Amino acid sequence: MLKVLWARLVVATLLPVVLVTVTLYPIFAAHLEERVDSTRQAAEAWLESEYDMLLQGMNESLNQVLATAEFPLLGRFLGRQQAALTPTRDIALQHDREQLEALFDTLLTHFGRYTRLALIDANGHAMVAATATPLLSLPPVVDYGATSAFQEAMLLQQRDLYVSPPHLGASRARDKPRTAVIDIATPVFDDRGQRLGVLMFTLDWSRFTATLPHVREDSQGEALLVDAQGTWLLPGDEAHRVPFGRALANERPAIWQAMSASNQGMVILDEHLLGFRSHDIRTHHYRSQAGMITSEVETQPWRLGVLMPKPGLTDLLSESPVQLLAIALVYLLSVAFGVFWVLSNHRLRSLRQRALQFSREARQNADEVQDLYEHAPCGYHSLDSDGRVLKINRTELEWLGYRAEEVIGKRCYRDFVTPETRAAFDQAFQQVLGLGQEGAAECELLCRDGTRLPVVIQATAHVTEDGFQYSRATVFDLSERKKLEERLAEQAMTDPLTGLGNRRYLEDQATMEIARAERSGAPLSLIAIDLDHFKRINDTYGHDVGDLVLQEFAHLTRQMLRDGDVLCRMGGEEFAIMLPGTGEKQAMQVAERLRQAIERAPAKVGRSISRDGTLAYSISLGVTLVNAGETSLKLAIKRADKALYTAKQNGRNRAAYQK
Ligand code: GH3
Ligand code: MG
Ligand code: MG
Repeated sequence: MLKVLWARLVVATLLPVVLVTVTLYPIFAAHLEERVDSTRQAAEAWLESEYDMLLQGMNESLNQVLATAEFPLLGRFLGRQQAALTPTRDIALQHDREQLEALFDTLLTHFGRYTRLALIDANGHAMVAATATPLLSLPPVVDYGATSAFQEAMLLQQRDLYVSPPHLGASRARDKPRTAVIDIATPVFDDRGQRLGVLMFTLDWSRFTATLPHVREDSQGEALLVDAQGTWLLPGDEAHRVPFGRALANERPAIWQAMSASNQGMVILDEHLLGFRSHDIRTHHYRSQAGMITSEVETQPWRLGVLMPKPGLTDLLSESPVQLLAIALVYLLSVAFGVFWVLSNHRLRSLRQRALQFSREARQNADEVQDLYEHAPCGYHSLDSDGRVLKINRTELEWLGYRAEEVIGKRCYRDFVTPETRAAFDQAFQQVLGLGQEGAAECELLCRDGTRLPVVIQATAHVTEDGFQYSRATVFDLSERKKLEERLAEQAMTDPLTGLGNRRYLEDQATMEIARAERSGAPLSLIAIDLDHFKRINDTYGHDVGDLVLQEFAHLTRQMLRDGDVLCRMGGEEFAIMLPGTGEKQAMQVAERLRQAIERAPAKVGRSISRDGTLAYSISLGVTLVNAGETSLKLAIKRADKALYTAKQNGRNRAAYQK
């Protein structure tokens, strides 16, 4: 369960992020495209201006060299050098030299971009030279003869120029790095067109390139300048990572690869935008006054480029903190919504599960309660205010022998109560309907098969604000209890030894018989019997034999009496017989017949007692009548005892009558 929740939370976090990104990305991509376009335009403009500046600067230098070479002073001075030595020539030469030195100093100061100006004779010797740092004692450049600049320039025509590739020149000071320079040389001719030497301006290339736009502080990008071989032509100061003279192919291969592939273009390199174009200084002379311009063939054309950082998404976002905040907020809200949705959904799900479990348990409990209700060991039923059965359990239906559909809503409960006990039921039901709201009654139920079932019904009313709704009753089966009570009552009136009724039984029966005799007027006699010398039997043969004799007597006597006669044991070896519908004479006859029967039939007591297994004994009897008006046997018993006493007195084994 927890694992699933985690998985859902991850999805709820990722999905909104993906959705928001998918929605926002095209907008930002369009913005970005716009930015890239404007950067491209800026790069193109910059490249254009860089190119123009470079071209203009170079052309200015070329023109300055050419203009200086036009001075007649230069030809004159070199011509005089070649002339024969005379004192006037020396003076004139000295004068020219001073003029030239003054001119060179002026030009150096005025133009400011050269490190050295030199006038070289046809043999390569520097005749006049000026340096930008005149205080520094430079080693005198005596011989230019071996330099390619001189050699190339000596081959050129008037107004033609030789431009050397940028190279490292002499250091301005010993502890300073050497600066990059360009030698610009043009031949010097005299009036007659004779080649006299070479004028060479050494352009401070580092200083010159420092005036190009890329070094401006606000420039975002980087300028690139390499020759046709890919040699880096910009000074390697701190701003430029590639030192002067290094091969770009080694230092930044990707850039070189892009730049060398075509003459010009605009390409995207990873995080940068590279714009570049070619510049061949030999073919741009038409914008100067130069004739032909030569240079080292393999170094041309140069390639000028600008490298600008390509605007990225992070640049775009970091531009405006408000925008960034808004985006973060959108992400946050969408993720929060996703998480909230998952959590609330999870809670709902667990609640639903719990509810389901509760209802399952409730149904189970209800089933159990229903089962208990239906199969309880007692009856349950509910009645409406008219006593009609609304509900009844199976136990009670089984007692009654009906099916539910025969009873529920169709029968009144009092129909099942026997007419004899219906009054008790009605009374109890009225109590339930009344203020007491409860009642109980012992009744008998009339079952379908005709049997009667003694029950006790205990009922309470179900009452709401709207008053009485129905009664609920519990019905207990009393038949077992009744049987037990009957058995106990029977036991209380029975003599266990002989199985005859006892004195209480006699009194019980007497009440009925006296009443009946009263009604009918028929006589009712009573005979009291006492076994003769019974003590002697006990003493002689033991108590067990005495018991056997008592049982034998009871058995025989019972056989001799009619059904309605009541024989009972009054206690010890004393018995009594109540004879309904029997007068004095008949009672005496019964007594006599009984006496004779006992005399003739000794008790069977077993062979251990006597040879034939019997024991002879006799009885004495006292006879009397229950007189009219007597409500109990009390007086009759007294009279019978008196008669018995008389019989004993007269010798036993006889009957006597007492009036
Ligand atoms: P009589 O009546 O002839 O004058 O002499 P009796 O020996 O019968 O005199 P009594 O009435 O004094 O004796 C009765 C005897 O019966 C005394 C008692 O031990 C005995 N007896 C009483 N109940 C029982 C009984 O349930 N079983 C036995 N075996 N003996 C009993
Ligand atoms: Mg006795
Ligand atoms: Mg006796």
